[in-house]
Order: sequence, then C-alpha cells, then structure tokens
Amino acid sequence: MNRSWSSLRARLVSTSTSTSHTSSRVRLSSVVFFASTGVLVSSYLLWPSKYRGSPTFTHKPMSPNYFIPATVSDISQTGPDLAVLTLTLPHDAHSTTDDASSLEPIWSIFVKDDDIQVERPYTPLHGVDENGNIKLWVKRYQRGEVGRWLHSKRTGDTVEIRGPLKTFPFHQGKWDEIVMISGGTGFSPFHQLLFRQLLPLQDKPVDDDTRFTLLHASRSPAELPPSPILQPLIDFAGAHPDHLRVRLFVDSDAQARVPESIARSLHVGRIDKCSIAHALGLSDGRCSWTSWINSFWTKGRSRGGDEDIRKKNILVLVCGPEPMVAAIAGPYGKNYSQGKVGGVLAELGFMAGQVWKL
Ligand SMILES: Cc1cc2nc3c(=O)[nH]c(=O)nc-3n(C[C@H](O)[C@H](O)[C@H](O)COP(=O)(O)OP(=O)(O)OC[C@H]3O[C@@H](n4cnc5c(N)ncnc54)[C@H](O)[C@@H]3O)c2cc1C
Repeated sequence: MNRSWSSLRARLVSTSTSTSHTSSRVRLSSVVFFASTGVLVSSYLLWPSKYRGSPTFTHKPMSPNYFIPATVSDISQTGPDLAVLTLTLPHDAHSTTDDASSLEPIWSIFVKDDDIQVERPYTPLHGVDENGNIKLWVKRYQRGEVGRWLHSKRTGDTVEIRGPLKTFPFHQGKWDEIVMISGGTGFSPFHQLLFRQLLPLQDKPVDDDTRFTLLHASRSPAELPPSPILQPLIDFAGAHPDHLRVRLFVDSDAQARVPESIARSLHVGRIDKCSIAHALGLSDGRCSWTSWINSFWTKGRSRGGDEDIRKKNILVLVCGPEPMVAAIAGPYGKNYSQGKVGGVLAELGFMAGQVWKL
C-alpha cells in the first residue's frame, strides 16, 4: 500500500498520543529485541578467539565456523584509498549454506590476511549473487593491516573468508520508519539492506509500509560510494519518494565531479542535528538559532517536545568511523557493546530501543 510520509506521520502521532500503553509495549519489545540482538551480534564479532585458527575447507558451503577460499575476480579503484573487490566463491560454496535466513540482511564476512593471520569483518554490498559473487567496498588506511593487504590483491588471487555473520537482524514490517546514518564505508551494510529489501521492487507497486531514509557522509565527492552503486538508490528514491529518501553529505565539494543526478542529493556539510531533524520531518524551529541557544541552556534539564520521537516506532541505524558514531549516537560501550544513546540522537529525544550502532 502506498502512503505519504505526512499521512503516516499523522497516524503515528495520533496513535502515540491516544495509546501510550501501545507505545510503551512497542518500546519494551524493542528493548528486549535489542538486548538479545546485542548479545548475538557481539558474541559473533567479539569472540574471535573461538575461531582463531579456524580450518579452511575447499569444498564446503559458507560457514562462520571455518574459512573457504574465494577468488578475486575483479578489483576496481573507486576513489582515493577506496576499491571495490569482487570475490567469487567456489561453485559448491554459495548454493548450499545451511540456513538461508543467514543470508538475509544485514550480514558480513571475515576476511583473513594470510600474511599475518589476522581477520577483519567486511560487508558485502549486495550479499551474494546467484553466481557466487560478493562485492566488498574496502577502505585502505595508511597503517591499517587488512585494508592495505586487500588493496594489494590482483585478479586471480585467492583470499579466505568465513561467514555469514549477522550484523543486524532486519525484520520486515517491524518498524514504521528506518533512518540509516553512515560515514565512509559504513555505507555498505545499508546498501545491502536496501538492495535486498527495496530495489527488487523497482518496477512493482511497493507494498512494504516501512519508510527508509539514508543520510550518508563522505569526506569528499571522490570518496562517495561509486556511482554504479549509488545511482540505483537515487533512482529508486526519485521514483518512490514515499519509501526511500537519500541525502548525501561531503565535508567539502573540492574536485566535485559527480553525475548531475547524484549532485542533486549532495549537501556540503556534516550530518548534524538539523539534517537529522529535517529528515525526520521535525519542525525547523528546532534548528533555529534561538532553539540552539535554548537547547544549550536547558541541556539536561528539559527535553522540550521530545515526546513524539519517543513514541514513534522508528529505528535509527548508525555505522561509520567511531568519532562520527559517538557524535551522532554516543560512544560504544565496553567491548563494543551498544553503550547509552548519546550525541545528537539523545538531544533529539531518541532512547534505547530506537538506536542501533552497527
Ligand atoms: C561488522 C563490520 C563490517 C565492516 N565492513 C567494512 C566494509 O565493508 N568495508 C570496510 O572498508 N571496512 C569495514 N569494516 C571495518 C574493517 O573491519 C576494519 O576495521 C578496517 O578495514 C580496518 O582494518 P585494517 O586491518 O585495515 O586496519 P587496522 O590495522 O585494524 O587499523 C585500523 C586503524 O588504526 C590505525 N592504525 C593501525 N596501526 C596503527 C599504529 N601503529 N599507530 C596508529 N594508528 C594505527 C590505522 O591507520 C587505521 O586507522 C567493518 C567493520 C565491522 C565491525
């Protein structure tokens, strides 16, 4: 069923004001969902010792418990220190995973750096296709180990991977609205979600009521996700504005050379309180000078007008460099647990159960 942003917003607000019990039940179920998700995800990602020294098998399906070889079938530079690697799995590896739901978004794989025997997680941009191809958008840090190692690979080389590992268990129909905020290659999990969930509906009536908003930031236009990846999202958002909105942010527009269609979604500046408020349709008043000053003076004493956010069945996913995640959603807790909701989202009134840091 198609429905407009404003009519759903109206429905949410009226539902939330008339049935506070319902909203607290939604909140409670979200908190329980997040707590169990947290335990599952962190036990996957923070338990490397269990899999350290995992064996490699050549004729087995993909599994989080052991490595399988994959061939680098393509590598293309997409920006400074950024490349898309295509890994092709052996024929018997991709068609026979034990559990098909493990390939539902959002999942990642571990890649093993053979030189120094360490592994790092990466997120397949599209999942795995019917030919067993996995595309990774990889950033090379000057002194980073695995990113540099992956960038040094050539077509025909072999890398070992294990997975899938669930990064966030998306459930269709669970949320009315999903806002995804990403920085740099933190874009990949959100692309995987949208590619699986929305893009297949391109030429059909979209009957999923969830509304998605992607706010993505890169340092410069040259570091934006590659156009062939970004363009289908922009096109979908143009055709189905009630279901997807995409806003791109760059710190500076120096050397801007992006296609006109992408440039239209581009803003110079950071993802901040105002851009998130705008994306959520909150009144501009929250971003006026006086409201900034008021919020400064009343910080910690009054949350003025936050009630609506707390009662919305909304999920905000955040993925990016740690300083960005901290500024937007508060720092991670110990051992990459979720920690408290902080930063801009806390100022806007979001609470635990509404925010997930990937
Ligand atoms: C679930 C998940 C999915 C991910 N998906 C992706 C993805 O799709 N694409 C992607 O690019 N990344 C992704 N990442 C991040 C990725 O796993 C790695 O953390 C990242 O590639 C850095 O690893 P590295 O081995 O290259 O760098 P590391 O060796 O871990 O170094 C990381 C940082 O520390 C700095 N550093 C290293 N050594 C030193 C030193 N001696 N002194 C000072 N600084 C130093 C590096 O410059 C770098 O900034 C994901 C992470 C998670 C948790």
